[in-house]
Amino acid sequence: MYFFSHPRFQDHSMGSGHPECPERLVAIEEALKAKALWPQLDHQVAKPVDMKVLELAHTQDLLQRLALPVPLGTYEFIDPDTCMNAQTYEAMLLASGAVLQAVDAVMTDKTRHAFCAVRPPGHHAERAASMGFCFVNHIALAALYARKKYKLTRVAVIDFDVHHGNGTEDILANEEGVLMVSSFQQDIYPGSGSKPKGENMVNVPLRAGAGSAEIASMLEHHWIPQLEGFEPQLLLISAGFDAHREDPLAGLAWTEDDYARITDALVQVANAFCTGRIVSSLEGGYCLDALGRSVSSHIASLLKPSLRAA
Ligand SMILES: [Zn+2]
Repeated sequence: MYFFSHPRFQDHSMGSGHPECPERLVAIEEALKAKALWPQLDHQVAKPVDMKVLELAHTQDLLQRLALPVPLGTYEFIDPDTCMNAQTYEAMLLASGAVLQAVDAVMTDKTRHAFCAVRPPGHHAERAASMGFCFVNHIALAALYARKKYKLTRVAVIDFDVHHGNGTEDILANEEGVLMVSSFQQDIYPGSGSKPKGENMVNVPLRAGAGSAEIASMLEHHWIPQLEGFEPQLLLISAGFDAHREDPLAGLAWTEDDYARITDALVQVANAFCTGRIVSSLEGGYCLDALGRSVSSHIASLLKPSLRAA
């Protein structure tokens, strides 16, 4: 299994005390090492995405604004919670690049699964607007890239971040050849999702406090039947871990075992329809300790030999 990272991911910072902080990636690395998962991963270094490729998912106007230099030691605010420092632009290009390299790796059978430990995250970034800690949308871009480069006709996007993936929905709603299934806590940031924007969107809003029972019902009644009916050729996961009960930014009650259960179910779908092809990319997750444990749980599931396709 490929694991994508880059030292520059930790240079992007939105200021001290900001929850989407460089220490998140340190916590993930430490947890994977503590669980002895780190040496089992095939470590890859991200390369920057080609600017032209980003235009698959974003307007030229947005990309030109993001490319404006930010002076060292200052912050350029996009919204009250989201700002760029001098290194953000490079980190953002590397993050998208990692996810596209991961798509290339699974589509050319170099590996079955890939996890991208990237930041900044991407799922709130809309076609024409950055927002919510996100600048460009790596997973939406990956879906369009995979459709174009590998002529795929059925790409599935799964988003289990606690916040609705409004950006991914904005870019992929009614996009031919794409199905998106997602879960999120209703009525929190960004406030969207209860009314899907396209027929290819399977949105499952969850009430505050929802945990294992609601996840089981969501998998059984919504996600898995929809995914199985779609027969995906590739699974792309927006892997946010802020639905964890210890996360400070939201109010769901998931545990690391729940992330394992969801991942196991997605691996089974991938094994049944596309020789296990899964690309997963980090989105949210702001309690450092819970984030480390949850990512470990997700990756341990992806590494499980018993779930590998024959
Ligand atoms: Zn989130």
